[in-house]
Amino acid sequence: MKHIVILGSTGSIGVSALEVLAGYSDRFKVCALTAATKDEPFAEQIAAFRPNVAAMSDENAASRLKNRPQVGDTTIYSGVEGLVQAATLDQADLVISAIVGAAGLVPTLAAIQAGKNVALANKEPMVMAGQLMQQEARAHGVTIFPVDSEHSALFQSMQGHRKEDIRRIILTCSGGPFRTCTREDMRHKTKAEALNHPNWEMGSKITIDSATLMNKGLEVIEAHWLFDIPASNIEVIIHPQSIIHSMVEYNDGSIIAQMGIPDMKIPIAYALSYPEHIPLDLPRCDLLKEGPLSFEAPDTERFPCLALAYRALQAGGTMPAVLNAANEVAVQGFLDDTISFLDIEGVIEGTMDAHLKTNLDTLEDALSADRWARDHAGNMVNDGAAAEVTMRRAGHA
Ligand code: NAD
Ligand code: MG
Repeated sequence: MKHIVILGSTGSIGVSALEVLAGYSDRFKVCALTAATKDEPFAEQIAAFRPNVAAMSDENAASRLKNRPQVGDTTIYSGVEGLVQAATLDQADLVISAIVGAAGLVPTLAAIQAGKNVALANKEPMVMAGQLMQQEARAHGVTIFPVDSEHSALFQSMQGHRKEDIRRIILTCSGGPFRTCTREDMRHKTKAEALNHPNWEMGSKITIDSATLMNKGLEVIEAHWLFDIPASNIEVIIHPQSIIHSMVEYNDGSIIAQMGIPDMKIPIAYALSYPEHIPLDLPRCDLLKEGPLSFEAPDTERFPCLALAYRALQAGGTMPAVLNAANEVAVQGFLDDTISFLDIEGVIEGTMDAHLKTNLDTLEDALSADRWARDHAGNMVNDGAAAEVTMRRAGHA
């Protein structure tokens, strides 16, 4: 029996993970779940899976949860400390890291330092502090299994091959809902249009990241740290059908790809059951019905967020953490209707331009870069400064 913790069980990935686990109760036992604020659906999950521990980052939500009858004899913890207690539970064998954003860094790193293997969906901590996460994973003998579909595809395409034979990795990208839009079209895009992803159903933050292509930028940085591949050997290719989930090219010109329908249960299950491919009750990928698979070059003039992510990776140190935090603040500003779609890139670029990069060696280095960038980006969101950066880029000012 493998004992599983899910950090972020009420989210899109968390719910999919529980669906996979529910089908294999003979192999997996859920020992801890965590959530942020939604105590009602969380209580239902507790009633269904009976974990030993449940933690909520929000103290008020945790208090409400304690009074719900579904809780039974599950121990309830709260705050960041509570998430860490769940992530480091003695009996846990594998922690599914599925919180969204930088909030996942502390509990995910704690899980690694407690020697737990990690199934990593939460890409932002790897973007912020990839070197530190990998260093700690090596020190504690931990395996980090990728859950992000592209990284699972890369991981699968590397099985049975030698790392030193890799020439480059190719991350595929759907192109998001604005793939064919001009900059002028994008200027007027609403939240509802940006949240309408053509191929994947996901949480709102990653869905906006998919519309700006920042999601792919974050994934380039994630791939760099997960697979130890230099930025110059990581390419992005637009593949609107989302059937090929990513590819690895070897020195002899062979390209190995992993394909399938776009459903996160596939990479989640592989991370849980590696090296086994367990049966899943999902529609099959019928290539005859899929029609032609097509490819395009990404356009960083229309989607500058992708270029900003490469720039942050090249700069190194605290810059990727700053990119990530500025992006989180900007996306929230867009979701709150405070800034426009194109201002997202302005907030990120303006914050990166203002940042004096330093080394990132410790958790505190990552957290202080994150705090600094949130502060700077928050001011840009509130005083309208993002629009100026975006205009300057477009040559209007
Ligand atoms: P989501 O918004 O649907 O769920 C987020 C989860 O994190 C929820 O359980 C929420 O309660 C919890 N959470 C949010 N803020 C928190 C905080 N401050 N402290 C503690 N918990 C908090 O997000 P999602 O779409 O499931 O994505 C989760 C992660 O997985 C993200 O990093 C995303 O980039 C990555 N990912 C998601 C998908 C997908 O298909 N959804 C695919 C690949 C990677
Ligand atoms: Mg992905």
